Amino acid sequence: MKILSSANFKRRKKSVEKIKEIKILLFKCMDCGKEDEVPEFVVEEFHFDLEEDEKVEVVCPFCNGTMKDIPSE
Ligand SMILES: [Zn+2]
Repeated sequence: MKILSSANFKRRKKSVEKIKEIKILLFKCMDCGKEDEVPEFVVEEFHFDLEEDEKVEVVCPFCNGTMKDIPSE
């Protein structure tokens, strides 16, 4: 008989809640114009290595071009 410990269950529930909180940022490729969704925490990680006023750029998964974030209104 398998018993799922309550500690395990709580941890799992917490991670699900965390996933719901993740903001998705939209990036648009400067070269092919395609859009891609990037989780905010990934962008923040990129930002860590940049200067204050530098913009995070990601590589386009379609053409390897440069993608920049589209500011959401
Ligand atoms: Zn592209």
